[in-house]
Amino acid sequence: MNFDNNLTFARRMDLADPLRGLRQEFLFPQQNNKPFIYLCGNSLGLQPKVAREVLDVQLNNWQNLAVEGWFEGDSPWMFYHKELKKLMAPIVGASVLEVCPMNTLTVNLHLLLVSFYRPTAKRFKIIMEAGAFPSDQYAIESQVRFHGYDPKDAIIEVAPGAGAYTLRTEDIVAAIDNSADEIALVLFGGINYFTGQWFDMEAITRAGHAAGAIVGFDLAHAAGNVPLKLHDWDIDFACWCSYKYQNSGPGGISGIFVHDKHFSDTSLNRFTGWWGYQEEQRFKMEKGFVPEAGADGWQVSCTQVMPMALYHASLQIFEKAGYMDVLRSKSKNLTSYLFYIINEVNKALGSEQFKIITPAAEQDRGAQVSIIARQEGKAIFKELVAQNVLGDWREPNVIRLSPVPLYNSFEDVYTTGVLLLKICKEVLA
Ligand SMILES: *Cc1c(COP(=O)(O)O)cnc(C)c1O
Repeated sequence: MNFDNNLTFARRMDLADPLRGLRQEFLFPQQNNKPFIYLCGNSLGLQPKVAREVLDVQLNNWQNLAVEGWFEGDSPWMFYHKELKKLMAPIVGASVLEVCPMNTLTVNLHLLLVSFYRPTAKRFKIIMEAGAFPSDQYAIESQVRFHGYDPKDAIIEVAPGAGAYTLRTEDIVAAIDNSADEIALVLFGGINYFTGQWFDMEAITRAGHAAGAIVGFDLAHAAGNVPLKLHDWDIDFACWCSYKYQNSGPGGISGIFVHDKHFSDTSLNRFTGWWGYQEEQRFKMEKGFVPEAGADGWQVSCTQVMPMALYHASLQIFEKAGYMDVLRSKSKNLTSYLFYIINEVNKALGSEQFKIITPAAEQDRGAQVSIIARQEGKAIFKELVAQNVLGDWREPNVIRLSPVPLYNSFEDVYTTGVLLLKICKEVLA
């Protein structure tokens, strides 16, 4: 696509955007009585306007039905998570049985590692990307120690080559092949939080399986951002949070995926609780755990109705949008436009002031663009916020900007470029 660096072009793109009406479904934060250009959906998605209303519905149910709310009312809490399962499955490319909303992300990662990291004396290693999100690093280190191994021996990190920021698929595959008889698990992010690199999940899964390992993904930055086919790619398990690209609010509910090929494996360890017990027999309160079929069998505690109501409201917007292929076709252009606009700013400044470390190729990235400023990065970022553009800053030196197809426009991206150039001229003068 050919882009132009002017307002007329940006507005023409917005007029032709079939998703442009969805922006109206969200509330934008304000500063000095002006809405922010919000480019931070990679960190916390915006509040859907219906959020207050759906919480009110549940507060009313609680008020009017109290304990009977579990089985009475329009949508009894006992079965409430099933409404979400139906809407979640298309986002990650899974069957309804393979997904379940529960807990929060790092907790779910631990629960899934209990089932799927099963080290033996010969095969106890985990391969992951160097520079994974810290919570994942801590979770994995603690799991390794829990099984009696030293993280130094058990964790293999695949790092970019000298001078590079991102990983090459062939290097990931080679790292897996090189340790083929030692690895129990390959655990990667779908999209790396720092660089925005979308890994070739299918190739990684194929290599992991060829090596005889289990393959899992943390999809915090991928779910709701790029189209996924977890079932068809034969991924063993995955989990994600819903408060980034899926707009479920701070601390929102997490989702898990377990491939249906594992459903009949009774040898899998689980950390269990009553809500994972077979639904029809659950309230007999008998001794001896019998798991509910599918991903629901990994549930531990009773349904968190309030956070699920928020996630449900946001999932309905995804359904209305037509799900990931529709969103992705806008997202590709919108993020390519941001690449173009950053390069335009460089051109106007006559230097490569901004280096984009996110891969340019569409298949290697989602919405996020990670940018390193040659000079005065933090000052420029702060000024950008002062001028009503909200991205985020990641230590030591990266500005992340993520135009989200549900609520961002081409005009947002264009205006960001205008402000960035103005700020650079002031700050670098
Ligand atoms: C955002 C994020 C988390 C956050 O975990 P919580 O348990 O929800 O706080 C974990 N892992 C990755 C990869 C993330 O991007």
